Amino acid sequence: MSIFEAPEYDGHEQVQFFSDQASGLKAIIAIHNTALGPALGGCRMWPYDSETAAIRDVLRLSRGMTYKAAVLDCGLGGGKSVIIGDSHREKTPELLHAMGRAIASFGGRYIVGEDIGTNPDDMREIRSVTRCVSCLREEDGGYGDPAPMTALGVFSAIRAGVEEAFGSDALDGVHVAVQGVGNVGFNLCKQLHEAGAELTICDIYPEQIERVREAMDVVVVEPDKIYDVPAEVFAPCAMGGIINDKTIDRLKVRVVAGAANNQLDDERHGAWLADRDIVYMPDYVANGGGLISCAAEWKGGDAAVVPDQVRGIYDTCRMILEIANEQEITSSEAADELAESRFKRDRERVAARA
Ligand code: NAD
Repeated sequence: MSIFEAPEYDGHEQVQFFSDQASGLKAIIAIHNTALGPALGGCRMWPYDSETAAIRDVLRLSRGMTYKAAVLDCGLGGGKSVIIGDSHREKTPELLHAMGRAIASFGGRYIVGEDIGTNPDDMREIRSVTRCVSCLREEDGGYGDPAPMTALGVFSAIRAGVEEAFGSDALDGVHVAVQGVGNVGFNLCKQLHEAGAELTICDIYPEQIERVREAMDVVVVEPDKIYDVPAEVFAPCAMGGIINDKTIDRLKVRVVAGAANNQLDDERHGAWLADRDIVYMPDYVANGGGLISCAAEWKGGDAAVVPDQVRGIYDTCRMILEIANEQEITSSEAADELAESRFKRDRERVAARA
């Protein structure tokens, strides 16, 4: 694998490998860009098939954080970390402490938060080693689990997408197929249900399904059948790469908007969705609510204004769709364009202050 030539490398400032024999830690921390501030990004713990897969994932996610922070006006840089391992079996306090020491070695240039396989309890554990931690619970001095704010952002993106497709952002009676009802998916289901939406859900863990079923009426399908559900909206809230050569022609929806990172397996799938008259809300914008919350926590902002800031994702999505329509480009390209213009504007402001 040629790392420097890989598209996801994209000028990363720093990519560092860490191992700790005593705890079994094997981790990679990637810092894409710190021009606007420290790189804030979650720590994913996942049993990757190969080290190449882990490197690719951390680079794609880290680059995405720079774009996400810029497009959402967070005044932060982009970075991400991955721990190679099974969070259900291999996560121990010792491993998290070793990860904390790795994070501390960046001297404040990388701020960690939660991601798949990590949670606010893990952030508390890491906090015992370094203060470069966000996404802490309220009792630990944080703003709490960011998942509800991520869900609120996805909810706002769905409204924007539904308005584009159907001319009204009302979700009453709108059918949404939700893939993955974990932290974000469950909170999203609650908000959609309250707004009167009809829900079809799937998950690979029965207990996750049960939690939703106990709270509301939903139709449940097998995980692989979610792509075939005739609905207005598909909300991917599990893993990335799910809009791909095999799934795209199965979709029977008019809007794709969800929490998962890197939903498009390849950039060309953005154009393919547009060709099929499917409105795609770029993932890093739709799922930016958690970052808005963690950024406010890290900077010591007012927690009370965070939900309104997150609802602003609706306006950002509308702006992206306007750019896409005007320039006849995909919504992903429009999101990148908006992120790059905001990044340039903010970098000039930072330079002027220096
Ligand atoms: P989670 O681990 O709590 O939930 C993911 C759920 O998806 C789990 O219930 C899992 O069983 C299920 N799942 C996994 N593979 C599946 C499959 N093939 N089909 C159906 N279900 C499957 O994670 P989360 O915090 O809810 O995050 C969901 C997604 O959103 C992730 O991609 C994450 O990176 C992204 N995201 C999360 C946040 C956040 O605040 N938590 C912020 C931004 C982005």
